[in-house]
Amino acid sequence: MRPALPDSAAMTPAVAGAILLTLAASVTLTGHDGLRAARVLALMVPLFIWLRWPVQHPGWKALRLVVVSSMLCLFVLDGVVRTYIQSRYQAVPESAMVLAALANTSSREATEYAQSMGHTLWLGLLGSAVILGVVITLTTLSNRHRAPVGKAGRWALIVLLVLCSVGLLSKHWRRYHPAIYWSNWATSITDLRSSLANQDDERAQLMANAEAAQPWITSTGPSTVVLVITDSVNRDNMSLYGYERETTPELTAFSREEAARWLTLSYAWSAEPGTLASLSGIFSYGMRGQNDPVGKHHHVLAMARAAGYRIWWMSNHDDIAIDQQHARLAHTVEMINRQPGRGSASLDGELLDCLEEALVDPTQRKLIVVHLLGAHPDYSRRAPEGMRPFDAGNDAVEAEMVSEGRSRWVREMRQTYDAAIRYHDGVVTQTARLTRQHAPANGQAAWMYLSDHGQEVGHNANRTGHSAATEAGYRIPALVWRSSPSVPAEASKRPFRADWAGWLLADLMNVRWDAMERSRNVLDETYDWEPPALPLKDVDFHR
Ligand SMILES: [Zn+2]
Repeated sequence: MRPALPDSAAMTPAVAGAILLTLAASVTLTGHDGLRAARVLALMVPLFIWLRWPVQHPGWKALRLVVVSSMLCLFVLDGVVRTYIQSRYQAVPESAMVLAALANTSSREATEYAQSMGHTLWLGLLGSAVILGVVITLTTLSNRHRAPVGKAGRWALIVLLVLCSVGLLSKHWRRYHPAIYWSNWATSITDLRSSLANQDDERAQLMANAEAAQPWITSTGPSTVVLVITDSVNRDNMSLYGYERETTPELTAFSREEAARWLTLSYAWSAEPGTLASLSGIFSYGMRGQNDPVGKHHHVLAMARAAGYRIWWMSNHDDIAIDQQHARLAHTVEMINRQPGRGSASLDGELLDCLEEALVDPTQRKLIVVHLLGAHPDYSRRAPEGMRPFDAGNDAVEAEMVSEGRSRWVREMRQTYDAAIRYHDGVVTQTARLTRQHAPANGQAAWMYLSDHGQEVGHNANRTGHSAATEAGYRIPALVWRSSPSVPAEASKRPFRADWAGWLLADLMNVRWDAMERSRNVLDETYDWEPPALPLKDVDFHR
Protein backbone atom coordinates (compact mmCIF):
# COMPACT_ATOMS: atom_id res chain seq x y z
CA MET A 1 0.00 0.00 0.00
CA ARG A 2 1.30 3.37 -1.01
CA PRO A 3 1.82 5.66 1.97
CA ALA A 4 -0.41 8.71 2.08
CA LEU A 5 1.24 11.67 0.47
CA PRO A 6 2.44 14.09 3.10
CA ASP A 7 0.55 17.35 3.05
CA SER A 8 2.37 20.11 1.24
CA ALA A 9 4.93 21.49 3.65
CA ALA A 10 3.95 25.03 2.70
CA MET A 11 0.25 24.64 3.38
CA THR A 12 -1.68 21.98 5.22
CA PRO A 13 -5.36 21.45 4.32
CA ALA A 14 -6.37 23.02 7.62
CA VAL A 15 -4.38 26.19 6.91
CA ALA A 16 -5.78 26.34 3.36
CA GLY A 17 -9.30 26.00 4.76
CA ALA A 18 -8.69 28.74 7.31
CA ILE A 19 -7.34 31.13 4.67
CA LEU A 20 -10.27 30.30 2.40
CA LEU A 21 -12.76 31.00 5.19
CA THR A 22 -11.07 34.31 6.00
CA LEU A 23 -11.06 35.35 2.34
CA ALA A 24 -14.70 34.41 1.70
CA ALA A 25 -15.86 35.99 4.96
CA SER A 26 -14.03 39.26 4.36
CA VAL A 27 -15.42 39.60 0.82
CA THR A 28 -18.89 38.96 2.23
CA LEU A 29 -18.42 41.52 4.99
CA THR A 30 -17.36 44.16 2.44
CA GLY A 31 -20.25 43.44 0.10
CA HIS A 32 -23.05 43.26 2.67
CA ASP A 33 -23.70 45.19 5.79
CA GLY A 34 -24.83 44.35 9.29
CA LEU A 35 -27.39 41.62 9.76
CA ARG A 36 -27.37 40.76 6.08
CA ALA A 37 -23.64 39.94 6.18
CA ALA A 38 -24.26 37.63 9.14
CA ARG A 39 -27.01 35.84 7.23
CA VAL A 40 -24.86 35.33 4.15
CA LEU A 41 -22.03 34.01 6.33
CA ALA A 42 -24.43 31.54 7.94
CA LEU A 43 -25.44 30.34 4.47
CA MET A 44 -21.77 29.84 3.59
CA VAL A 45 -20.68 27.95 6.71
CA PRO A 46 -22.22 24.53 5.72
CA LEU A 47 -19.79 24.43 2.77
CA PHE A 48 -16.85 24.66 5.19
CA ILE A 49 -18.33 22.03 7.47
CA TRP A 50 -18.61 19.69 4.53
CA LEU A 51 -15.01 20.51 3.60
CA ARG A 52 -13.83 19.52 7.07
CA TRP A 53 -15.88 16.34 7.20
CA PRO A 54 -13.62 13.25 6.84
CA VAL A 55 -14.51 11.94 3.39
CA GLN A 56 -12.44 9.06 2.02
CA HIS A 57 -14.08 7.92 -1.21
CA PRO A 58 -12.42 9.61 -4.24
CA GLY A 59 -15.75 10.04 -6.01
CA TRP A 60 -17.22 11.95 -3.06
CA LYS A 61 -14.06 14.02 -2.82
CA ALA A 62 -14.28 14.98 -6.49
CA LEU A 63 -17.95 15.90 -6.15
CA ARG A 64 -17.17 17.93 -3.01
CA LEU A 65 -14.42 19.81 -4.81
CA VAL A 66 -16.70 20.77 -7.69
CA VAL A 67 -19.68 21.77 -5.55
CA VAL A 68 -17.80 23.61 -2.79
CA SER A 69 -15.44 25.51 -5.07
CA SER A 70 -18.17 26.62 -7.47
CA MET A 71 -20.47 27.69 -4.61
CA LEU A 72 -17.67 29.60 -2.90
CA CYS A 73 -16.85 31.28 -6.21
CA LEU A 74 -20.50 32.42 -6.33
CA PHE A 75 -20.32 33.83 -2.79
CA VAL A 76 -17.07 35.64 -3.55
CA LEU A 77 -18.32 37.06 -6.87
CA ASP A 78 -21.49 38.18 -5.10
CA GLY A 79 -19.40 40.13 -2.60
CA VAL A 80 -17.16 41.62 -5.29
CA VAL A 81 -20.06 42.79 -7.48
CA ARG A 82 -21.89 44.26 -4.48
CA THR A 83 -18.78 46.08 -3.33
CA TYR A 84 -18.37 47.53 -6.81
CA ILE A 85 -21.99 48.74 -7.07
CA GLN A 86 -21.87 50.12 -3.53
CA SER A 87 -18.64 52.06 -4.03
CA ARG A 88 -19.51 53.31 -7.50
CA TYR A 89 -23.21 54.13 -7.04
CA GLN A 90 -23.85 53.90 -3.27
CA ALA A 91 -26.54 51.38 -4.15
CA VAL A 92 -27.49 47.75 -3.63
CA PRO A 93 -28.11 45.61 -6.74
CA GLU A 94 -31.88 45.35 -6.15
CA SER A 95 -32.39 49.12 -5.79
CA ALA A 96 -34.80 50.72 -8.24
CA MET A 97 -32.01 52.79 -9.71
CA VAL A 98 -29.85 49.79 -10.60
CA LEU A 99 -32.78 47.65 -11.79
CA ALA A 100 -34.25 50.43 -13.91
CA ALA A 101 -30.85 51.30 -15.37
CA LEU A 102 -30.22 47.69 -16.39
CA ALA A 103 -33.76 47.09 -17.61
CA ASN A 104 -33.43 50.23 -19.73
CA THR A 105 -30.03 49.30 -21.13
CA SER A 106 -29.62 48.03 -24.67
CA SER A 107 -26.65 45.86 -25.65
CA ARG A 108 -25.16 48.89 -27.43
CA GLU A 109 -25.33 50.95 -24.23
CA ALA A 110 -23.82 48.07 -22.29
CA THR A 111 -20.89 48.00 -24.71
CA GLU A 112 -20.48 51.76 -24.40
CA TYR A 113 -20.55 51.48 -20.63
CA ALA A 114 -17.84 48.83 -20.73
CA GLN A 115 -15.75 51.02 -23.04
CA SER A 116 -16.22 54.04 -20.80
CA MET A 117 -14.72 52.07 -17.93
CA GLY A 118 -11.51 51.66 -19.95
CA HIS A 119 -8.74 49.80 -18.22
CA THR A 120 -10.60 49.59 -14.90
CA LEU A 121 -12.86 47.02 -16.58
CA TRP A 122 -9.87 44.83 -17.47
CA LEU A 123 -8.29 45.31 -14.07
CA GLY A 124 -11.60 44.34 -12.45
CA LEU A 125 -11.97 41.22 -14.60
CA LEU A 126 -8.34 40.24 -14.01
CA GLY A 127 -8.67 40.83 -10.26
CA SER A 128 -11.84 38.72 -10.14
CA ALA A 129 -10.16 35.93 -12.13
CA VAL A 130 -7.23 35.94 -9.69
CA ILE A 131 -9.55 35.78 -6.67
CA LEU A 132 -11.53 32.91 -8.21
CA GLY A 133 -8.26 31.11 -9.00
CA VAL A 134 -7.21 31.51 -5.38
CA VAL A 135 -10.59 30.21 -4.17
CA ILE A 136 -10.36 27.11 -6.38
CA THR A 137 -6.73 26.43 -5.39
CA LEU A 138 -7.44 26.79 -1.68
CA THR A 139 -10.51 24.55 -1.98
CA THR A 140 -8.41 21.93 -3.77
CA LEU A 141 -5.78 22.03 -1.03
CA SER A 142 -8.34 21.91 1.74
CA ASN A 143 -10.19 19.07 0.00
CA ARG A 144 -7.19 16.81 0.76
CA HIS A 145 -8.09 16.76 4.41
CA ARG A 146 -7.49 13.29 5.87
CA ALA A 147 -7.21 13.97 9.55
CA PRO A 148 -10.19 12.30 11.24
CA VAL A 149 -12.58 14.32 13.36
CA GLY A 150 -13.10 13.01 16.89
CA LYS A 151 -16.55 12.06 18.15
CA ALA A 152 -17.03 15.34 20.00
CA GLY A 153 -15.81 17.24 16.94
CA ARG A 154 -18.34 15.44 14.74
CA TRP A 155 -21.15 16.33 17.06
CA ALA A 156 -19.99 19.95 17.09
CA LEU A 157 -19.95 20.01 13.28
CA ILE A 158 -23.43 18.47 13.10
CA VAL A 159 -24.87 20.99 15.55
CA LEU A 160 -23.25 23.85 13.66
CA LEU A 161 -24.56 22.45 10.38
CA VAL A 162 -28.10 22.25 11.73
CA LEU A 163 -27.87 25.78 13.13
CA CYS A 164 -26.63 27.23 9.86
CA SER A 165 -29.13 25.25 7.82
CA VAL A 166 -31.94 26.97 9.69
CA GLY A 167 -31.07 29.96 7.50
CA LEU A 168 -31.92 27.96 4.41
CA LEU A 169 -35.38 27.25 5.82
CA SER A 170 -36.18 30.93 6.32
CA LYS A 171 -37.28 32.77 3.20
CA HIS A 172 -35.72 36.01 4.44
CA TRP A 173 -32.31 34.41 4.87
CA ARG A 174 -32.39 32.15 1.89
CA ARG A 175 -33.00 34.97 -0.55
CA TYR A 176 -29.50 36.28 0.09
CA HIS A 177 -27.94 33.02 -0.99
CA PRO A 178 -26.14 34.18 -4.15
CA ALA A 179 -27.56 31.39 -6.30
CA ILE A 180 -31.11 32.37 -5.30
CA TYR A 181 -30.51 36.11 -5.07
CA TRP A 182 -29.02 36.55 -8.51
CA SER A 183 -31.55 34.37 -10.29
CA ASN A 184 -34.38 36.37 -8.65
CA TRP A 185 -32.53 39.51 -9.58
CA ALA A 186 -32.34 38.48 -13.24
CA THR A 187 -36.07 37.68 -13.20
CA SER A 188 -36.94 41.11 -11.78
CA ILE A 189 -34.96 42.81 -14.55
CA THR A 190 -36.78 40.77 -17.20
CA ASP A 191 -40.15 41.55 -15.62
CA LEU A 192 -39.29 45.20 -15.27
CA ARG A 193 -38.14 45.40 -18.86
CA SER A 194 -41.52 44.16 -20.10
CA SER A 195 -43.51 46.43 -17.79
CA LEU A 196 -41.34 49.47 -18.60
CA ALA A 197 -42.21 49.09 -22.24
CA ASN A 198 -45.87 49.67 -21.35
CA GLN A 199 -45.09 52.62 -19.09
CA ASP A 200 -43.31 54.41 -21.91
CA ASP A 201 -46.54 54.13 -23.87
CA GLU A 202 -48.54 55.37 -20.87
CA ARG A 203 -46.38 58.46 -20.51
CA ALA A 204 -46.61 59.14 -24.24
CA GLN A 205 -50.39 58.87 -23.93
CA LEU A 206 -50.45 61.26 -20.95
CA MET A 207 -48.38 63.79 -22.90
CA ALA A 208 -50.71 63.45 -25.91
CA ASN A 209 -53.75 63.98 -23.64
CA ALA A 210 -52.17 67.10 -22.15
CA GLU A 211 -51.26 68.53 -25.53
CA ALA A 212 -54.78 67.90 -26.80
CA ALA A 213 -56.13 70.00 -23.89
CA GLN A 214 -54.01 72.93 -25.14
CA PRO A 215 -53.23 74.46 -21.74
CA TRP A 216 -51.99 78.04 -21.61
CA ILE A 217 -50.30 80.25 -19.07
CA THR A 218 -52.15 83.35 -17.89
CA SER A 219 -49.18 85.21 -16.44
CA THR A 220 -46.23 86.83 -18.13
CA GLY A 221 -42.70 86.70 -16.83
CA PRO A 222 -40.79 83.95 -15.08
CA SER A 223 -42.42 81.58 -12.60
CA THR A 224 -41.01 79.08 -10.14
CA VAL A 225 -43.28 76.57 -8.40
CA VAL A 226 -41.98 74.11 -5.80
CA LEU A 227 -44.16 71.15 -4.80
CA VAL A 228 -42.95 69.36 -1.67
CA ILE A 229 -44.65 65.99 -1.15
CA THR A 230 -43.83 64.29 2.11
CA ASP A 231 -44.73 60.88 3.48
CA SER A 232 -46.71 59.75 6.53
CA VAL A 233 -46.95 63.14 8.28
CA ASN A 234 -50.01 63.59 10.48
CA ARG A 235 -50.89 67.27 10.98
CA ASP A 236 -52.01 66.55 14.55
CA ASN A 237 -48.32 66.15 15.39
CA MET A 238 -47.32 69.60 14.13
CA SER A 239 -47.27 72.51 16.56
CA LEU A 240 -48.19 74.69 13.57
CA TYR A 241 -51.53 72.85 13.72
CA GLY A 242 -51.80 73.20 17.49
CA TYR A 243 -49.90 70.15 18.78
CA GLU A 244 -48.65 70.60 22.35
CA ARG A 245 -45.12 69.41 21.65
CA GLU A 246 -43.11 72.03 19.83
CA THR A 247 -42.40 69.95 16.75
CA THR A 248 -42.52 72.67 14.06
CA PRO A 249 -41.04 75.92 15.46
CA GLU A 250 -39.36 76.75 12.16
CA LEU A 251 -42.50 76.43 10.04
CA THR A 252 -44.39 78.46 12.64
CA ALA A 253 -41.75 81.21 12.51
CA PHE A 254 -41.75 81.26 8.70
CA SER A 255 -45.56 81.35 8.54
CA ARG A 256 -45.53 84.42 10.83
CA GLU A 257 -42.81 86.19 8.82
CA GLU A 258 -44.81 85.54 5.68
CA ALA A 259 -48.31 85.89 7.14
CA ALA A 260 -49.67 87.82 4.14
CA ARG A 261 -48.41 85.26 1.66
CA TRP A 262 -49.00 82.14 3.72
CA LEU A 263 -51.86 79.67 3.90
CA THR A 264 -52.25 76.84 6.39
CA LEU A 265 -55.04 74.57 5.15
CA SER A 266 -56.46 73.69 8.56
CA TYR A 267 -58.64 70.79 7.49
CA ALA A 268 -56.53 68.85 5.01
CA TRP A 269 -57.25 65.18 4.32
CA SER A 270 -55.72 62.53 2.12
CA ALA A 271 -58.12 60.49 0.02
CA GLU A 272 -56.00 57.36 0.40
CA PRO A 273 -54.05 55.77 3.27
CA GLY A 274 -51.09 54.57 1.15
CA THR A 275 -48.37 56.17 -0.93
CA LEU A 276 -48.95 54.84 -4.45
CA ALA A 277 -52.73 55.29 -4.48
CA SER A 278 -52.40 58.75 -2.95
CA LEU A 279 -49.81 59.89 -5.49
CA SER A 280 -52.03 58.60 -8.31
CA GLY A 281 -54.82 60.84 -7.02
CA ILE A 282 -52.60 63.87 -6.44
CA PHE A 283 -51.16 63.74 -9.97
CA SER A 284 -54.39 62.87 -11.80
CA TYR A 285 -56.55 65.70 -10.37
CA GLY A 286 -58.30 63.04 -8.31
CA MET A 287 -59.55 61.24 -11.40
CA ARG A 288 -57.40 58.16 -11.83
CA GLY A 289 -56.92 55.20 -9.51
CA GLN A 290 -53.57 53.53 -9.12
CA ASN A 291 -54.28 50.78 -11.64
CA ASP A 292 -56.73 52.51 -13.97
CA PRO A 293 -55.83 52.70 -17.66
CA VAL A 294 -54.63 56.10 -18.91
CA GLY A 295 -57.64 56.65 -21.16
CA LYS A 296 -58.42 60.36 -21.41
CA HIS A 297 -56.94 61.16 -17.99
CA HIS A 298 -54.58 64.02 -17.33
CA HIS A 299 -51.36 64.08 -15.32
CA VAL A 300 -50.29 67.23 -13.49
CA LEU A 301 -46.71 66.98 -14.79
CA ALA A 302 -47.77 66.30 -18.39
CA MET A 303 -50.12 69.29 -18.26
CA ALA A 304 -47.41 71.55 -16.82
CA ARG A 305 -45.01 70.37 -19.52
CA ALA A 306 -47.51 70.93 -22.29
CA ALA A 307 -48.08 74.46 -20.93
CA GLY A 308 -44.36 75.23 -21.14
CA TYR A 309 -42.95 74.42 -17.71
CA ARG A 310 -39.63 72.69 -17.30
CA ILE A 311 -39.93 70.01 -14.62
CA TRP A 312 -37.53 68.66 -12.04
CA TRP A 313 -38.25 65.63 -9.87
CA MET A 314 -35.94 65.03 -6.93
CA SER A 315 -36.60 62.28 -4.47
CA ASN A 316 -35.43 60.54 -1.36
CA HIS A 317 -37.60 57.51 -2.27
CA ASP A 318 -36.40 54.52 -4.21
CA ASP A 319 -39.53 53.15 -5.85
CA ILE A 320 -39.84 51.91 -9.40
CA ALA A 321 -43.58 52.49 -9.64
CA ILE A 322 -43.32 56.15 -8.57
CA ASP A 323 -40.37 56.56 -10.87
CA GLN A 324 -42.23 55.14 -13.85
CA GLN A 325 -45.70 56.57 -13.23
CA HIS A 326 -44.72 60.09 -12.23
CA ALA A 327 -41.04 61.05 -11.99
CA ARG A 328 -40.16 60.11 -15.57
CA LEU A 329 -42.59 62.73 -16.85
CA ALA A 330 -40.11 65.33 -15.60
CA HIS A 331 -37.23 66.64 -17.70
CA THR A 332 -34.69 66.09 -14.94
CA VAL A 333 -34.91 63.25 -12.42
CA GLU A 334 -32.65 63.04 -9.41
CA MET A 335 -33.00 60.07 -7.05
CA ILE A 336 -30.62 60.42 -4.14
CA ASN A 337 -31.67 57.26 -2.30
CA ARG A 338 -30.46 54.01 -3.78
CA GLN A 339 -31.61 51.65 -1.05
CA PRO A 340 -34.95 50.09 -1.98
CA GLY A 341 -38.06 50.51 0.10
CA ARG A 342 -38.96 53.23 2.52
CA GLY A 343 -37.10 51.55 5.35
CA SER A 344 -33.77 53.05 4.39
CA ALA A 345 -31.94 55.69 6.36
CA SER A 346 -31.17 58.45 3.85
CA LEU A 347 -32.11 61.78 5.47
CA ASP A 348 -34.37 64.22 3.60
CA GLY A 349 -32.00 67.13 4.21
CA GLU A 350 -29.71 65.60 1.60
CA LEU A 351 -32.09 66.92 -1.05
CA LEU A 352 -31.63 70.60 -0.21
CA ASP A 353 -28.53 71.07 -2.37
CA CYS A 354 -30.37 69.47 -5.25
CA LEU A 355 -33.28 71.84 -4.77
CA GLU A 356 -31.04 74.89 -4.71
CA GLU A 357 -29.37 73.78 -7.94
CA ALA A 358 -32.74 73.63 -9.68
CA LEU A 359 -33.80 76.97 -8.16
CA VAL A 360 -30.79 78.82 -9.58
CA ASP A 361 -31.27 77.30 -13.02
CA PRO A 362 -32.05 80.19 -15.41
CA THR A 363 -35.08 78.49 -17.02
CA GLN A 364 -38.08 80.89 -17.10
CA ARG A 365 -40.84 78.50 -15.98
CA LYS A 366 -39.98 75.81 -13.51
CA LEU A 367 -41.94 73.20 -11.60
CA ILE A 368 -39.75 71.47 -9.03
CA VAL A 369 -41.16 68.40 -7.27
CA VAL A 370 -39.39 67.40 -4.06
CA HIS A 371 -40.41 63.97 -2.75
CA LEU A 372 -39.45 63.42 0.90
CA LEU A 373 -39.54 60.35 3.13
CA GLY A 374 -41.00 62.62 5.84
CA ALA A 375 -41.98 60.51 8.84
CA HIS A 376 -42.38 57.18 7.08
CA PRO A 377 -41.70 54.14 9.29
CA ASP A 378 -39.11 53.35 10.57
CA TYR A 379 -39.50 56.67 12.46
CA SER A 380 -36.13 56.35 14.17
CA ARG A 381 -34.41 56.55 10.80
CA ARG A 382 -36.11 59.83 9.79
CA ALA A 383 -34.03 62.07 12.05
CA PRO A 384 -30.30 62.17 12.75
CA GLU A 385 -29.21 59.88 15.55
CA GLY A 386 -29.27 61.63 18.89
CA MET A 387 -32.01 64.08 17.89
CA ARG A 388 -34.55 62.97 20.51
CA PRO A 389 -36.13 66.15 21.92
CA PHE A 390 -39.27 64.51 23.34
CA ASP A 391 -37.88 61.45 25.13
CA ALA A 392 -38.52 62.90 28.58
CA GLY A 393 -42.25 62.31 28.06
CA ASN A 394 -43.64 63.90 31.17
CA ASP A 395 -45.86 66.36 29.26
CA ALA A 396 -49.49 66.90 28.29
CA VAL A 397 -49.18 64.60 25.27
CA GLU A 398 -47.85 61.78 27.40
CA ALA A 399 -50.51 62.33 30.05
CA GLU A 400 -53.29 62.25 27.48
CA MET A 401 -51.93 59.05 25.93
CA VAL A 402 -51.71 57.43 29.35
CA SER A 403 -55.30 58.42 30.12
CA GLU A 404 -56.39 56.88 26.79
CA GLY A 405 -54.67 53.65 27.79
CA ARG A 406 -51.93 53.74 25.14
CA SER A 407 -49.22 51.20 25.79
CA ARG A 408 -45.72 52.21 26.78
CA TRP A 409 -44.41 51.01 23.43
CA VAL A 410 -46.86 53.19 21.49
CA ARG A 411 -46.00 56.19 23.70
CA GLU A 412 -42.33 55.69 22.97
CA MET A 413 -43.05 55.38 19.26
CA ARG A 414 -44.88 58.71 19.52
CA GLN A 415 -41.73 60.31 20.97
CA THR A 416 -39.69 58.90 18.07
CA TYR A 417 -42.31 60.02 15.55
CA ASP A 418 -42.36 63.53 17.01
CA ALA A 419 -38.55 63.68 16.80
CA ALA A 420 -38.85 62.81 13.10
CA ILE A 421 -41.39 65.65 12.67
CA ARG A 422 -39.03 68.03 14.45
CA TYR A 423 -36.21 67.19 12.02
CA HIS A 424 -38.64 67.33 9.11
CA ASP A 425 -39.69 70.84 10.20
CA GLY A 426 -36.19 72.17 9.51
CA VAL A 427 -35.97 70.55 6.07
CA VAL A 428 -39.43 71.66 4.95
CA THR A 429 -38.94 75.23 6.16
CA GLN A 430 -35.63 75.35 4.34
CA THR A 431 -37.35 74.35 1.06
CA ALA A 432 -39.72 77.31 1.58
CA ARG A 433 -36.91 79.71 2.48
CA LEU A 434 -34.90 78.65 -0.57
CA THR A 435 -37.96 79.15 -2.79
CA ARG A 436 -38.41 82.68 -1.42
CA GLN A 437 -34.69 83.44 -1.69
CA HIS A 438 -34.52 82.36 -5.34
CA ALA A 439 -37.87 83.78 -6.44
CA PRO A 440 -37.31 85.13 -9.95
CA ALA A 441 -36.94 88.91 -10.25
CA ASN A 442 -39.95 90.40 -12.11
CA GLY A 443 -41.80 87.14 -11.72
CA GLN A 444 -43.62 84.86 -9.32
CA ALA A 445 -42.70 82.07 -6.99
CA ALA A 446 -44.96 79.63 -5.17
CA TRP A 447 -44.43 76.74 -2.80
CA MET A 448 -46.79 74.03 -1.75
CA TYR A 449 -46.34 71.30 0.83
CA LEU A 450 -48.52 68.30 1.62
CA SER A 451 -48.28 64.75 2.89
CA ASP A 452 -49.40 61.75 0.82
CA HIS A 453 -51.34 60.37 3.82
CA GLY A 454 -51.33 60.43 7.61
CA GLN A 455 -50.11 58.03 10.24
CA GLU A 456 -51.54 56.32 13.30
CA VAL A 457 -49.24 56.71 16.30
CA GLY A 458 -51.64 56.08 19.14
CA HIS A 459 -54.04 58.85 18.02
CA ASN A 460 -57.19 56.79 17.52
CA ALA A 461 -55.91 53.31 18.29
CA ASN A 462 -53.25 51.59 20.35
CA ARG A 463 -50.95 50.91 17.41
CA THR A 464 -48.64 52.63 14.95
CA GLY A 465 -48.24 52.77 11.18
CA HIS A 466 -50.25 53.40 8.03
CA SER A 467 -53.91 53.26 8.89
CA ALA A 468 -56.82 52.76 6.52
CA ALA A 469 -59.27 52.28 9.37
CA THR A 470 -58.69 55.40 11.52
CA GLU A 471 -58.84 59.14 10.84
CA ALA A 472 -55.18 59.48 11.79
CA GLY A 473 -54.36 57.66 8.55
CA TYR A 474 -55.78 60.59 6.54
CA ARG A 475 -55.13 63.76 8.59
CA ILE A 476 -52.41 65.48 6.58
CA PRO A 477 -50.82 68.93 6.58
CA ALA A 478 -51.18 71.14 3.49
CA LEU A 479 -49.41 74.52 3.29
CA VAL A 480 -49.09 77.16 0.59
CA TRP A 481 -46.80 80.14 0.13
CA ARG A 482 -47.06 82.43 -2.89
CA SER A 483 -45.04 85.56 -3.58
CA SER A 484 -48.00 87.23 -5.32
CA PRO A 485 -50.91 87.68 -5.50
CA SER A 486 -51.69 87.04 -1.84
CA VAL A 487 -53.52 83.82 -1.03
CA PRO A 488 -57.13 84.27 0.20
CA ALA A 489 -57.10 83.91 3.99
CA GLU A 490 -60.63 82.47 4.07
CA ALA A 491 -59.34 79.37 2.22
CA SER A 492 -57.64 78.34 5.46
CA LYS A 493 -60.93 77.07 6.94
CA ARG A 494 -62.09 75.27 3.78
CA PRO A 495 -61.67 71.51 3.98
CA PHE A 496 -59.09 70.27 1.51
CA ARG A 497 -58.36 66.89 -0.03
CA ALA A 498 -54.96 65.84 -1.35
CA ASP A 499 -56.27 64.33 -4.56
CA TRP A 500 -57.52 67.79 -5.57
CA ALA A 501 -54.05 69.29 -5.12
CA GLY A 502 -53.59 69.34 -8.92
CA TRP A 503 -56.26 72.04 -9.26
CA LEU A 504 -54.57 74.23 -6.67
CA LEU A 505 -51.21 73.60 -8.29
CA ALA A 506 -52.57 74.67 -11.67
CA ASP A 507 -53.56 77.95 -10.01
CA LEU A 508 -50.08 78.40 -8.51
CA MET A 509 -48.54 77.75 -11.95
CA ASN A 510 -51.11 80.02 -13.67
CA VAL A 511 -51.94 77.17 -16.01
CA ARG A 512 -55.44 77.04 -17.50
CA TRP A 513 -57.31 74.81 -19.93
CA ASP A 514 -60.87 74.68 -21.18
CA ALA A 515 -62.20 71.71 -19.22
CA MET A 516 -60.57 72.83 -15.97
CA GLU A 517 -62.69 72.42 -12.83
CA ARG A 518 -62.16 75.64 -10.90
CA SER A 519 -64.61 74.54 -8.23
CA ARG A 520 -62.07 71.98 -7.01
CA ASN A 521 -59.36 74.58 -6.47
CA VAL A 522 -59.40 75.47 -2.77
CA LEU A 523 -58.17 79.02 -3.57
CA ASP A 524 -61.06 79.71 -5.95
CA GLU A 525 -64.19 81.58 -4.77
CA THR A 526 -66.33 78.95 -6.52
CA TYR A 527 -64.78 76.15 -4.42
CA ASP A 528 -67.30 73.38 -3.95
CA TRP A 529 -66.26 70.80 -1.34
CA GLU A 530 -67.12 67.15 -1.77
CA PRO A 531 -65.78 64.77 0.89
CA PRO A 532 -63.57 61.90 -0.32
CA ALA A 533 -65.03 58.40 0.09
CA LEU A 534 -63.02 57.18 3.07
CA PRO A 535 -63.74 53.76 4.61
CA LEU A 536 -64.69 55.47 7.90
CA LYS A 537 -67.97 56.37 9.59
CA ASP A 538 -69.10 59.87 10.62
CA VAL A 539 -66.02 61.84 9.70
CA ASP A 540 -66.23 65.54 10.47
CA PHE A 541 -64.11 67.03 7.69
CA HIS A 542 -64.21 70.45 9.36
CA ARG A 543 -61.84 69.46 12.10
ZN1 LIG B 1 -46.66 57.20 1.99
